[in-house]
Amino acid sequence: MALIVHKYGGTSMGSPERIRNVAKRVAKWARAGHQMVVVPSAMSGETNRLLGLAKELQPAQLDAAAMRELDAIAATGEQVSVGLLALALQAEGQPAVSYGGWQVPIQTDSTYTKARIEAIDDAKVRADLAAGKVVIITGFQGIDGDGNVTTLGRGGSDTSAVAVAAAMKADECLIYTDVDGVYTTDPRVVPEARRMHTISFEEMLEMASLGSKVLQIRSVEFAGKYRVPLRVLSSFTPWDINIDEEAVSGTLITFEEDEKMEQAVVSGIAFNRDEAKFTVVGVPDKPGIAYQILGAVAAANIDVDVIVQNVSHDGRTDFSFTVHRNDFQRTNDLLKNTVLPATGAAQFTADNRICKVSIVGIGMKSHVGVASTMFRTLAEEGINIQMITTSEIKTSVVLDEKYMELAVRALHKAFGLDAPETVA
Ligand code: ADP
Ligand code: ASP
Ligand code: MG
Repeated sequence: MALIVHKYGGTSMGSPERIRNVAKRVAKWARAGHQMVVVPSAMSGETNRLLGLAKELQPAQLDAAAMRELDAIAATGEQVSVGLLALALQAEGQPAVSYGGWQVPIQTDSTYTKARIEAIDDAKVRADLAAGKVVIITGFQGIDGDGNVTTLGRGGSDTSAVAVAAAMKADECLIYTDVDGVYTTDPRVVPEARRMHTISFEEMLEMASLGSKVLQIRSVEFAGKYRVPLRVLSSFTPWDINIDEEAVSGTLITFEEDEKMEQAVVSGIAFNRDEAKFTVVGVPDKPGIAYQILGAVAAANIDVDVIVQNVSHDGRTDFSFTVHRNDFQRTNDLLKNTVLPATGAAQFTADNRICKVSIVGIGMKSHVGVASTMFRTLAEEGINIQMITTSEIKTSVVLDEKYMELAVRALHKAFGLDAPETVA
């Protein structure tokens, strides 16, 4: 008998029929003798609907008081789905009980809309499991030290599931979604993308942080920190598929670097359209200037991603950086009202029609020329690179967003990812 955590995403929970299928699948695992904890998302579209309603009424400036209410509203999506799933399991003859994050409780900090999990008390859950019940816990939500409902950021149910698995030392955490595993890139953009049987933890972390939303980045961080065995698999296989076959399907996140006999140089391509680029033009080139610009941005709680400072001419230079697109207006106002007057820079430009495309692979550590293949491929497609950033196992470029799909397809082909897999 094992302790297993299942997580079901929004599409998998998207209708009463689909919830019934989830219930049948979970009941099958319980009948096989496993203790089951299930973490579902809100039904697909529901979180967007709730936040859309809020948007019609919210104040122009979102202060902590308003963010508190946004979380209270957004968390209701998951509240409904846990109840529905518990009913569906009971209808299958499987005892089940549902809990909101505040009931478990899943303790978080107070950073509304992107709270971090601090502790999970599993006493109640363990007692229910011992009594033969399936325990269903809301994804995405928790409760802070003052009793306020918090949410963990979009896609946060993945993190809830992995955190519950870590806290309970579960034997495995299975993330059921609308694709049958982690692919070399988003199969919606490149139909030739292929599923990986395994992906290293390091690569998964990069893919997630660079935009592959198949797993929320914090869930991967949790899995790494607590060594949670983690697998991504499809919720759209027939629910009565042989359980042993199901248990080895999808993509396993591995923690052993040398697992594969021969490591592909580039394992995957990630992309995101969530960033905006600013260039402060004609900044006096003197010590402390990066701090004057980025210090002001950081003080406003705006995260900076890519940074490039150009060579100077006549004692002045250009300084570019990217931020999340949600912070576009705030960054714009900050540069205009604070940074330009403080630095004596001539002007700034702002562009929210950019994208970031990244190649990821552990093999890049030991191969030269990978980045140049990337640059050549983009040049051959006539795509201009605006910014470049690298680490040991990834190279990212910032491009005009209209070239995103073309760039991803061309790179996927150039690095041989379209080809059938040769190493299992
Ligand atoms: P869920 O609602 O189950 O959490 P998400 O929509 O959050 O599902 O994540 C699954 C989606 O992630 C897929 O439908 C796919 O379009 C997208 N995706 C992005 N990159 C990848 C990738 N490398 N492999 C698989 N899916 C990916
Ligand atoms: N329902 C939340 C969202 O849409 C959390 C999740 O689905 O993981 O972002
Ligand atoms: Mg998701």
